[in-house]
Amino acid sequence: MPIDATAPYDEQNIFAKILRGEIPNRTVYEDEFALAFHDIAPQAPVHILVIPKGRYVSWDDFTAKADDAEIAGFIRAVGRVAREAGLVEPGYRLLANIGVHGHQEVPHLHVHLFGGRSLGPMLAR
Ligand code: AMP
Repeated sequence: MPIDATAPYDEQNIFAKILRGEIPNRTVYEDEFALAFHDIAPQAPVHILVIPKGRYVSWDDFTAKADDAEIAGFIRAVGRVAREAGLVEPGYRLLANIGVHGHQEVPHLHVHLFGGRSLGPMLAR
């Protein structure tokens, strides 16, 4: 069920539990600002999620409320994860789903990194 991107932060969302160490994940990178881990249901040979450590529901919430260090740290982490996964030369796709029309399911900001094969057109028609 897609979430409302304007809803208050839900401390019980699955990525909040991952950040608290309450459920396992396959971490690929972690620093002060971000955690990156493999998607549990990959939709490409490489499918990594990068999330900020702060409590932000969506890209909208994050860009409105996060401070400059958090924003820079998160975006740098996304770039670093892509480089370290070997995605830059063959190319890859970054995707953030936001709210109902974006079909966002987990109400903690996350960026999908897809790669490992040619990804085809941007959207299903
Ligand atoms: P979205 O539709 O953008 O909110 O995508 C949520 C993503 O989170 C989906 O690709 C799910 O497969 C993924 N996901 C859900 N639970 C977990 C989990 N416990 N560990 C890793 N990925 C998850």
